Formats: sequence, C-alpha cells, structure tokens
Amino acid sequence: MSTARLRLYNTLTRTKEDFVPIDPDRVRMYVCGPTVYDFAHIGNARPVIIFDVLNRLLRHLYGKDHVTYVRNITDVDDKINTRAAERGITIRQLTEETNAIFQEDVRALGCLDPDVQPRATEHIAEMIAIIERLIAGGHAYASAGHVLFSVPSMSDYGRLSRRPLDEMIAGARVDVAPYKQGDMDFVLWKPSKDSEPGWESPWGRGRPGWHIECSAMSWKHLGETFDIHGGGIDLVFPHHENEIAQSRCAFGHDVMANVWMHNGFLQVEGEKMSKSLGNFRTIREVLADWQGEVARLAMLKTHYRQPIDWTAASLRESKRELDRWYLIASQYASTEDMLSPEFEAALCDDLNTAEAITHLRRLYSEANEGVAYAGARLAACGRMLGLFQQDLAAWNGWRPASAGIDELMVHRLIKDRLAARAAKNWAESDRIRDELVAMGIQLKDAKDPATGELTTTWEVKR
Ligand code: AMP
Ligand code: ZN
Repeated sequence: MSTARLRLYNTLTRTKEDFVPIDPDRVRMYVCGPTVYDFAHIGNARPVIIFDVLNRLLRHLYGKDHVTYVRNITDVDDKINTRAAERGITIRQLTEETNAIFQEDVRALGCLDPDVQPRATEHIAEMIAIIERLIAGGHAYASAGHVLFSVPSMSDYGRLSRRPLDEMIAGARVDVAPYKQGDMDFVLWKPSKDSEPGWESPWGRGRPGWHIECSAMSWKHLGETFDIHGGGIDLVFPHHENEIAQSRCAFGHDVMANVWMHNGFLQVEGEKMSKSLGNFRTIREVLADWQGEVARLAMLKTHYRQPIDWTAASLRESKRELDRWYLIASQYASTEDMLSPEFEAALCDDLNTAEAITHLRRLYSEANEGVAYAGARLAACGRMLGLFQQDLAAWNGWRPASAGIDELMVHRLIKDRLAARAAKNWAESDRIRDELVAMGIQLKDAKDPATGELTTTWEVKR
C-alpha cells in the first residue's frame, strides 16, 4: 500500500478532485468495452491502455485484491447483425471470433485482463429488471413493442455533458419515431423481427438498446453506485448521459459513479481515427510492424485527456527509446517498492503518463552515469506502465511480421522526408530515405515544371 494521494479529473464536475473510494477495500471501476463486429482500430486501443494503467495504479495504491475492474463486451448491436449477415455467419460466430482477436490484441499491447468482462447477451435479465423499475417509477413507458426512457421525467438530465437543451433535442431528433412521446426520449428495448436476435420480455420478443447494457452490467458486477466510470470522450453524450439517467432513476441515487473519466481522441492528421472516416489502422496491422510495447509507449507519451496525433515518427522514437531502456531495465527483477516518489506523484496527478515518461528518461540517463538505484527504478517504474514485460533476448529478437508494406506508414515517412528537405535538413531526409530502402522501398522524386513543387512516388524493390 502506498500513501501517495490520487487526484483525478472528473468530467461530471469539470475539476481535478481527490479520489476518495466508496470502500477502499473494494475500489470499483467500469470501462465501456468494444462492440465486437470487426477488428478494433488503434484509436480503440487508447481507452484500453489508459484504463489499464489506471487499474495498475489503483492496485498499487489500494492492494491488488482490493480493486475490481470491469470492461464489458457489447455482443448485441445492429452493426453486429448486419456484419454477420454480410459474411454469412451466425452472430455468435462473429462475436466469438472478433472478441478472441480483441483479447489477443490488447494482451499484445501489454494490458492486464480486467477482473470481469461481462457480455451483454448474458445480462438480459438484469436489463429487463432495470426497465421494469423505470416503468414502475414513471421514468419509462412502453409503446408499440418499444420501451422508451422519458427524459422529461428526470429533472437534472444532462448534468454530465452540459449540452444546451436545444442541441440535445436536435441530436435526438435524428431518431424521429411515432412511438416517442418526447423528442429526447431514448430506446431501452425494441422489438426484433424473427430474423433478428431477440429475447422474450414483458413487451414481447425484442432486444435491448445500447445504453441499458452498461447500466445492467455495471449494476450486476459493481453495484448501484461505484467509483470510476471510463471511456472515450465521444461516449459522454449520449451514451454515458443515458447510462446515468437509467441507473440513477432505477436505483434512486444522486450519482451512478462518482468519477467520470474520458480519454481524448487518437487522430490522424488532425482528424479522429474512425471506421467511418476510413483513416484507421487496426491494432493488428500496427502489431505487425511494431512491438506492442512500442505502441503502448507511443500512446502514453501524451496525457490521456489530450488528443494524440498517431505518427510514424512517434512510433520510431518509442522504439529507439525502448531499445535503449531494455538494455538496463532487463537486468533488474523489480518490485513496486523501487518506484520513485516523483514517478508515483506524476501518475497520481490525474494519470500524468507524459510526466512519468519524462522521469523514465531521467532515470535512464542517471543509470548510465552510474547513479545507484536508477536502473532498478527504471525497471520498476517502466513495469508499472506495462513496459519491460519481456526478456532482452525476446525483445531484441523481434522482427516485423508484415511481409507486406504498410502504405499509411510509407506515406507518412515520405511526408516527413519532404518536410525535412523543405527545412534543408538533409541528414534527416537521407536517414528517412535509408529507412525506406531498408523496407525495400525505392523513392522517385519529381519536380513539377510549372510550380517547382517536389513530389515523391514510390515502388517496392526486393
Ligand atoms: P466503439 O467500438 O466505437 O464504441 O469504441 C470503443 C472505445 O474506443 C470507446 O471508449 C470509444 O470512445 C473509443 N474510441 C473510438 N475511437 C477513438 C479514437 N479515435 N481515439 C480514442 N478513443 C477512441
Ligand atoms: Zn457503456
């Protein structure tokens, strides 16, 4: 047990607060997990890695048997039905296969398994029980096989997202439906056609809405109220706002979770990485080119609430740093009591991993200068972040698995090289060219005769 004081930024209050668990013998955290219909992209890995670090920190602070970390698996969703039909496989086959890939991917990124990974389809009874309570309390109504949450029945709806009412109405109006009494009312239960997955319920055969799934799973595994609820910033509205509405109105508490934490987006050239924008790289593709710990370090160099630009340069830099650090860290079998106070203080300051990594760099320099304990501390602090999980031989023996070329990476390297040339940084421009040559890629530069602008094309030469 450590005595460092943990402070966390709470989206609910928009302030950094001292973290005070409801029961320090059982600290409880829920994080919204993946919808398992397709490969997760590296943006989806951000919350997984961030909350893995928080889980490790909580275990360090409160004792590893005193923390319950729940991350759900959404295995009922219309995207799943559509994809299974497209591929001509059953829903169960699709969700099993996708979940197995996700589990492998996040382990390769160095994440510990959560204590519980509940599946939505195994919590239908709890969802029905919450919906029945909401109807009994006047917070929900059944209409044409649907059950809707009545937003006007909750006087302080909207406390988390603090969106102006007209914006919320405009957002909810996208989903116009004759069975809705209020514009902002949202679906708790909807009818299923015979071809769709469905469960018997007091309102006929149907399936749950997305938000009710998390209210049911967090209730079952963590109770009516708990300590921390996390996810990406895009989940604040409507998903988390609606989870809060359901759980608070069903159980009659002022809060669902005390602290709400949200990570910023992982971006590509200033835009959110997402499937719909088509600018995504799956975790699997990234892991073919880089060790999981390289991606993890690249992710943790930025504070979790800031956006991250996912660049080749940052991955290369992380690889170089880890190669150096491993030489020292792998010599020590570390224990948590070797953590430096500065490192713990950085993590306890709203999970400031950027500052914690700056401290690792300092420890690395000190270890090279022969400062006692620096090497052991580097090992201990790095392991707390989920790094140095391999031995040196395994680390050094790793080779990229991808025989194919990572085109997105090639484009980025070419862009970096053109930028280096524009800045007359010939050494950097040559270095990048050599790196591409080592990957089997030949560059061709051409000057546009009209504008004088340099363009670069590439081809694979093996
Ligand atoms: P989804 O499968 O879209 O529900 O996303 C799963 C988790 O990944 C959620 O917590 C999202 O907020 C998060 N997420 C999705 N895209 C990004 C991104 N580009 N950067 C960071 N987090 C993301
Ligand atoms: Zn959720």
